[in-house]
Formats: sequence, structure tokens, C-alpha cells
Amino acid sequence: MEPPCVKSLGSVQRNEDVAPGSDDSSGSAAPQKAQPSSIQGFWTKQDTVSYSTLLRDIDAKEIKQLDLVPGRREVRVQHNDGRRVTVPVFANDNQILRAAESSGTPLTVVDIRREQAGRELAGTLMLVLLVVVGLSFLLKRSAQMANRALGFGRSQPRLKPQEDLQLRFEDVAGINDARLELEEVVTFLKQPEAFIRLGAKIPRGVLLVGPPGTGKTLLAKAIAGEAGVPFFSIAASEFVELFVGVGASRVRDLFRQAKEKSPCIVFIDEIDAVGRQRGAGIGGGNDEREQTLNQLLTEMDGFEENSGVILLAATNRADVLDAALLRPGRFDRRIDVGLPDRRGREAILAVHARTRPLDDAVSLSDWASRTPGFSGADLANLLNEAAILTARQNMLRIGQFQLEGALERITMGLSNRPLQDSAKKRLIAYHEVGHALVASLLPAANAVDKVTILPRGGAGGYTRFMPDEEVLDSGLITRSSCLADLVVALGGRAAEQVVFGSLEITQGASGDLQMVAQLAREMVTRFGFSSLGPMALEGPGTEVFLGRDWFNQRPGYAESTGQAIDAQIRQLAKSALAQAIALLEPRRELMDQLVDVLIAEETINGDRFRDIAGLP
Ligand code: ADP
Ligand code: MG
Ligand code: ZN
Repeated sequence: MEPPCVKSLGSVQRNEDVAPGSDDSSGSAAPQKAQPSSIQGFWTKQDTVSYSTLLRDIDAKEIKQLDLVPGRREVRVQHNDGRRVTVPVFANDNQILRAAESSGTPLTVVDIRREQAGRELAGTLMLVLLVVVGLSFLLKRSAQMANRALGFGRSQPRLKPQEDLQLRFEDVAGINDARLELEEVVTFLKQPEAFIRLGAKIPRGVLLVGPPGTGKTLLAKAIAGEAGVPFFSIAASEFVELFVGVGASRVRDLFRQAKEKSPCIVFIDEIDAVGRQRGAGIGGGNDEREQTLNQLLTEMDGFEENSGVILLAATNRADVLDAALLRPGRFDRRIDVGLPDRRGREAILAVHARTRPLDDAVSLSDWASRTPGFSGADLANLLNEAAILTARQNMLRIGQFQLEGALERITMGLSNRPLQDSAKKRLIAYHEVGHALVASLLPAANAVDKVTILPRGGAGGYTRFMPDEEVLDSGLITRSSCLADLVVALGGRAAEQVVFGSLEITQGASGDLQMVAQLAREMVTRFGFSSLGPMALEGPGTEVFLGRDWFNQRPGYAESTGQAIDAQIRQLAKSALAQAIALLEPRRELMDQLVDVLIAEETINGDRFRDIAGLP
């Protein structure tokens, strides 16, 4: 057993275990501190007393305070007269305890292992802290989620209206038809009195219908901007959430806020997400969606006439909307926002060119002609892609070249590495020349805009056509142009067969064949272009959109008619291929010549192609 540690009696000992206030723990042998009164924790050697003396002093009640430090095997003694001494004891001494108890002397046990333990504790604490922080983070998140769900969507920041929108009608180009009606809406919002005086009811809901990217959202914002009223915008899908009833309460909340801000515009984007026909889903439909829709209908009925809140909604599927939504007093005005025509496209390009420096050689009307079928968003994207290309090439102005690149990228996808293998390259060249040559030979076919064997977006090469603008805008397709399209589509396969023989034809034509099948079917079953006669055998599009369609999938004709349809389709495809072969076979030399140029130059534009072919 170790003897009591006498060294530890030294005054240099740090008295970490004594009460605070021992600020001067290093001032060891300062004489004036020999008899400290107020400063605790200072013991000197000369004050040593023996164990038995200590016990006697305790019994005599001469001790004011005892501090037992078992870890150091000592007891610190404070006498009534202010003397302080330290007495060594056994670690497990309990005689002192008993003596102190019987005499009523206050005794404190001090644990010096605290410090070592403290260090270990710090490590443990860190770990615990980490866990706690992590846990509380998780808890907070789930609490937030619960709040979102249970807080009934109230005071959602996303319901804040946008005020002072800077968009105006001139930022939305090519919507001349819709513009008059929209201006009417603006006048309603600006001077409702003029209408109210005449007893006219201001419309409550305006439905914007059109394909994606045609500027419906833009238009809604422009109306708010023109009228200078707050603009509440919400996507209908935001109504439909995890918890039943949230959507409906969100609708209520939206209308409550809107009424406070009136006059204002509430814009519900993609309204078909909640506004689809009720009871049309497979398996009973979505109750939450129906509740939301019902709430929407109720709210629309609920706000008084001329309350100054005008509801705008956008959709590209007006055909699937619930009839109750379209009833008078609800979304009774409908504005069709279609794809822009050539003039519209030019105007849209001009709007987006305002902020982008174009090269003088770029003609917007030219580019408008080259982008039939493009929506406003596509056109904005075209200019944006061109701007990116221009920046990458460290140029200052967007030029013709960059626009070409952007168009390719948008329509065909990213460019792939050019082919090295010359046999494959040759086959692709013949295939594309086949398409282009057939198209140039048929008066009813679209003009060739460009032929290329530079691979892009998965295609080895491609031929681009320029649709006839007039035909496109009128929306009327003739039987002759349909037939010509079939022949052109099979021109690639025909060329492969003429040049390489029927054993060497490739699957490269599979995309063409799909197009042929689809067009031929429509010609027979929808347009009445075949000998089956002038009747529609199928509706437009066969996609299953609502459950209702799914159950009504039975074709409306006899089985024998179905066989006749298939026979007609096959007949159309076969005779188109025969016609393409008949056009190409006698022009084998011309094909070789065109292929040589194409392989050398990789891309030929339409004019040059016709020039080489000697065709108008
Ligand atoms: P939608 O809501 O019909 O799907 P958006 O209004 O969101 O289409 O249009 C997307 C983007 O396309 C707009 O931000 C704008 O840059 C461009 N855009 C679309 N239509 C037009 C247009 N008529 N005039 C100008 N820009 C348009
Ligand atoms: Mg939109
Ligand atoms: Zn092809």
C-alpha cells in the first residue's frame, strides 16, 4: 500500500477542486498569504497536524469545515480560528466521517478524478451533441412537413402575389387574335365601373388553351402587368398533396387572400391536374383531386359578382376538363393560344432578339420560314442556344452559323462523332440521297432543305425538308401530298435496295417505316383516302388518357373491316416503295454522283442539291 502522498501537500498544487475564487493558484509561497482569510485553497506545511489531533479537534468542535479528498488520501481542515491544514488519511477512512457526524462538523467529500473524467466526458459529450443536433434537425424537418400538411396551406409564402409585373403585351408576340379579348380583360380590371354601370357582368374565369410553350403563362403575367394588379400564381398540381383535404383548404385560402387583394388576377397553371372530368379515373378516381375541384367550383360561385378577382387558367388539354368548370359563370371565356404562324414566329424572334446582339447577316424573316411548327418557347430556346454557341466561340454577335448549329441541336439532338468507317458512311449517304432525290422528283413532296451524313442524336445522317408554309398554316393536307410523303419516307430504303440489293438493306430505315405505318393508317382510317370509302374508322389519337377511354377501346368496326384496313395499309406502303424504286433505278449514275459530293462535303443544302441533280 502506498503511503499517504506527502508531496501533494505542497502549496504548488493546483487547487482545481476548491471553490471558485481561487484565482491565484500559482502564487505559491507568498508570505502574506500564510494566514489567508478570504482566499481559500491555500495550505502551508507548517500547519500540519497529526491524525489523532485532528480527531480530537473534531470532537472538541474546533473545526469549522472539513474537505475529504479520498482520491488524494487527505482531508483539508479549516479551524474555527482560521487556520487551515491538510491531514493525510487512508483512502477508505471512515473514522473522520463518523467523528464529523457525531460532532456535527460540516464535511464535504471532494472528488479529484473529476478532471480526468472531464476529458473523457468532453469526448462523449461531443458525440452526444452530434447525435442530438442530427436528431433535432431531422425532427425539425418532419415537424415542418407535418406543419405544412396540417397548417392547411395557410400563409404559404408561395401564395404571395407578384406585384408590379413588368411584362406587357408587347413582350408576347404573335398572339394578335387573342389580344383583343385580353385587352378587354385588362379594361375590366382597370375600369370596372364602365361595365357595372351598364349592368354587364365581368367575367370570372378565362381559360387559356394551347400547346406547351405557346406563351400562356407569359400572357397571364402580361395581363396582370398591363392592368397593374397583383398576380397570384399557382400550379394546380400544388393543390393535390399527400393529405386529403389539403388541396381544398388551399383553394379556400387562395381565394380568401385574393379577395383581400382585389382587384387582382389568380392564375392556375395546368388546371387539368385538378380539373379533369370527375369519376373518369380507373378505380374510382382520385378523391383528393375531386374534392379540390369541388372546392374550386364552390369558390368560383361564392365570390360575388364583380368582386374584381379574375381567374385565369391554362391548359393544353381542354378536352379533358370537367364540364362544370366550363359552365357560364366559371371559366366561360376561352382563349386559344395556338402555335404561331410565320409572321408570329418572326415577331417572337424579334422580341427575343431585343436582348441579344444579332449579326447583320441574320434575317429573322428567313428564320421564321425555317422554323414551322416551333412554339414561342422553342424559338426562345433557339436564340438562347445560338447565344451559348456564340459565347463559346468567343464571338460578340450571334451569326447565321450559330443559329444553324442551334437549330440542328434542337431538332436532331447533340452531334455525335463523325463516322470513320467508309463503307457504313457510303450506305448512309445512299440512304439519305434516296430520300432527297425522290423528294426533288415528286412535285407534291416538300422541298429538301438540307442533306447531311453528320450523325446527330442517334441518327447516322438525315434529310431535312421545308414544309410548305401555306399548307402548314391552312392545316389542310391533300391526298397527293400524303402519298408523296410515303414515297419520300421510303426513298431511303429504296436506295439501299437499288444499290446494294435486297439482302443488304439495313434496319436504319426503321424510323422511316414507323412513320409510313402511322401515316398510312391515318389515311385509311381517318382521312378516307383509300378505297375503303369516306368514313372515319378511328378517332384522333389512340392513347389511353382517362380510364373512360380505356374501357371504350373496342374498335367501332367489324373484324373483317379490320383486315381490310390492314390490307389497305400494306398496299399503300408497298406501292410507295415500288414507286420510289422506280424513280431511283434509272438514276443510278446521278445517285453515285450525289453520294460522292455528300461524302466529300458531308452536308449539302437544298439549293446545291437541286443544282447538282439538275432539278428545279
Ligand atoms: P406555356 O405557359 O404556354 O407553356 P410559357 O408562357 O411558359 O408557355 O412560355 C415559355 C417561354 O417561351 C416564355 O418565357 C417566353 O420566353 C417564350 N415564349 C412563348 N411564347 C411566346 C410569345 N408569344 N412571345 C414571346 N415569347 C414567348
Ligand atoms: Mg406555362
Ligand atoms: Zn431514312
